[in-house]
This record gives sequence, structure tokens and C-alpha cells, in this order.
Amino acid sequence: MMTPFQFMAATRVRCAAGGLQALGEEVQTVGGRHVLLVTDPGVRRAGLMDRAVRVLETAGIPCRVYSAVTPNPSTAVVEEGVSLLKDHGCDCLVALGGGSAIDTAKAIGILATHPGPLGAYEGVNKLTAPLPPLIAIPTTAGTGSEVTCVAVITDPVRHYKAVIRSDSLAPRVALLDAELLLTLPPPIVAATGIDAFTHAYESFVSQATNPVSQALAVEAMRLIARHLRRFYGNPANQDAAEAMLIASTMAGFAFSSGRVGVIHAMAHPLGGHFNVPHGLANAILLPYCADFTRPAVPELFCRIAEALGEDVRGLPQEAAGARAVAAIRGLVEDLNIPTSLRQVGADPRAIDQLTADAVASGIHATTPRPVTAEAIRELYALAFH
Ligand code: NAD
Repeated sequence: MMTPFQFMAATRVRCAAGGLQALGEEVQTVGGRHVLLVTDPGVRRAGLMDRAVRVLETAGIPCRVYSAVTPNPSTAVVEEGVSLLKDHGCDCLVALGGGSAIDTAKAIGILATHPGPLGAYEGVNKLTAPLPPLIAIPTTAGTGSEVTCVAVITDPVRHYKAVIRSDSLAPRVALLDAELLLTLPPPIVAATGIDAFTHAYESFVSQATNPVSQALAVEAMRLIARHLRRFYGNPANQDAAEAMLIASTMAGFAFSSGRVGVIHAMAHPLGGHFNVPHGLANAILLPYCADFTRPAVPELFCRIAEALGEDVRGLPQEAAGARAVAAIRGLVEDLNIPTSLRQVGADPRAIDQLTADAVASGIHATTPRPVTAEAIRELYALAFH
């Protein structure tokens, strides 16, 4: 008998090359009259912000811009955005950017409708009031935040990335327009692409997984295996960009219900303490954590190997699972991602603190192999080799 499960997908996805042109129509559909456009300096420099503003101007929709979002966005960034939203009476949020801009917009929506501090909403389903409508337009193919019910915001005092998870955080609309990804620098393509893979992989093996999220996860892994190298090799390749955008959105749907695991538990403290970009932290941890998890779910690792294009027919499960981990390692290496946390500014003397924060997050609870504090410490040590 199948384990009972629930699957929810609250976001309408509209995917089309050039789909940014539909932004005005979408704002009207969600009932917005005055937009706060949330973005960051890199997206602005790439010329994408101006394109979005022009679309809104043409549609006659007033718009304010908040473009000071930072990577691993902090509560201070969110508060600045909330002031702007309130001062100008904005009633609709548009996020244009990667996970940092989208999560900031989600958190602005929370503090626009709920009393602070933001940390009071860390955890699951703590939001009580409806949020302003949010239209998410991803410009990276990584986090899946455009369809998830999650916002990750850094508390700068605790150096802690708080995860706020609530059904009402799912954007109303995700506009997927591959034309917006063509300006991505290859290292960001690499790190964000492995972030998407990590979502698919962790939700696929998670104890909270279900047949719907697993189907999305396995297809996301297949797409990433086929297209991420091509996209990295040439970020102007629109077909590869679109395949990656669809894969990261599928992975977002998958982990919204299937959850993530030990890799995310360990990646968040690296962002909180050392500002390591999320995708990079995941990418460095992924091969070690996959190898750690493999013995608990050998049959799932056979399917991961197949999704990665490995021919494992006739191989014993153990050998097929080892091929899956080797293929994951090969993908990360082909993307020239650093292999040690030392190379990305993290300090191994902080392993005890990182371990304590990872354990406190509880995110590893869904990993199919029991994860002790000692196991986390050893995995960090491996990743600091
Ligand atoms: P990001 O949003 O921080 O962007 C990385 C860099 O890429 C930025 O400098 C940005 O300016 C630049 N950039 C983005 N799009 C560009 C484009 N098209 N052209 C040129 N430059 C561009 O990175 P990210 O990996 O997308 O997001 C990471 C954040 O998302 C982290 O804080 C992470 O914790 C969070 N996250 C959230 C979820 C969720 O479900 N809410 C899931 C995973 C990760």
C-alpha cells in the first residue's frame, strides 16, 4: 500500500520565450495596481530591470523599483524593501532575478502584512494573513523559488539562514522567459544549475518524497544531465537555457512537497557565516553527501544513474549506485566548480559552529540515512579537504 501523501502546486507557470512582454497583463490578472519591482544590481546591470520597467510603463502600470537585493539577502534588505512598498502604496510584488530577489520579495510580502520580526515566521505555516500577490520572473535556472512555498532570509545577528515555509508564500504566477537567462556568467550558470540538481536529487531520495514529486525530480535530473554542460559552455544557447529553466522549476515543485535534506542543512550555515553562494555550497557538498546517503536507498541511486545517462543494466545495485555518484562528481568537475570549501572563503576552524547550526536547522531529518552530528562534522571535514 502506498504511503499517504499530499502534493500542492499553487503557482501558475507561464513559459514562453519573450514572455516578459506579458508582465502587464499578468499584473492586471492578479489585481495589482501599483507594482514594487524587486531586483538586484547584477540583474539591473544586465539590462533586464529596464526591460521589465518598460513593459510595465507600456501597460500603464505605475512601478517603483527596489534594486538593492544582495546574495544571501538579509532581514535589513527586506526591511528596506518593505518601507518602499509602504511609502508608495504598492499592492503587487514583481520579483525579477535569482532566488535572492524572489525570496526578498516573498519576505517583503510577509512584513507588509504581518508584524515583525521576520524571524517569528521561521518554520512551517506560521503566516496568518493573505500576502500581496507576487509574480516571480527567474533570471537564474537554479533555486525554483518562483514556484516554492519557501523564503530563505539571513539573520545577520545570528549569521543564520532562516527558512520560512508557508503555503501562502508560493508566487501567484511564475513567468519563465529563457531570453532573460542569456546574460548569465558561466560560473553562475554552473552553481545555480547544480543547485537545481541538488533540489531534484534531495527531494527524490527524501523520506518525505511522493510519487508526484519523484516524477518531477527524476525528469529534472534527466534534463539537467542533458543540458547543463551545454548551457555552461554557452549561456547564449537559448534552447539549453530554456531546458534548464524548466528543470529548475520542476525541481522547485518537487522539493516544495518532497523536501530537501542534509546538503541543504549543511549549505545554509556556509551562507550565513561565510556568505558562500548557495549553489556553490550545494555543489561542493553534493558528491560527498550523495556518497554518504547511497547505502540507505540503493534502488533509488540506480534510477539516478539512469537519469544521468549511465547504462547500468545488469550491474549490481551497489555498482550502479557508485556510478550515479561518479556521474554527479563528473558533472560538477566539468563545470569547473571548486571542490573544497577552502576555495570559497569558508574557514575549517568553524566546523563546530557550522555543525551546530546544521543540526539546529533540522533540515536533514528527511535524509533517508540517519544523520548524526558526527556524520555532519565528518562530511564538512571531507568538503574542507
Ligand atoms: P542570486 O539570486 O543571488 O543571483 C546570483 C548572481 O547572479 C547575482 O549577482 C545576480 O545579480 C546575478 N544574476 C542573476 N540573473 C542574472 C542574469 N540573467 N544575468 C546576469 N547576472 C544575473 O542566486 P540564486 O542562486 O538564484 O539564489 C540564491 C538564493 O536563493 C540563496 O539565498 C538561497 O538560499 C535561496 N534559495 C531559495 C529557495 C527557495 O525555494 N526559496 C531555494 C533555493 C535557494
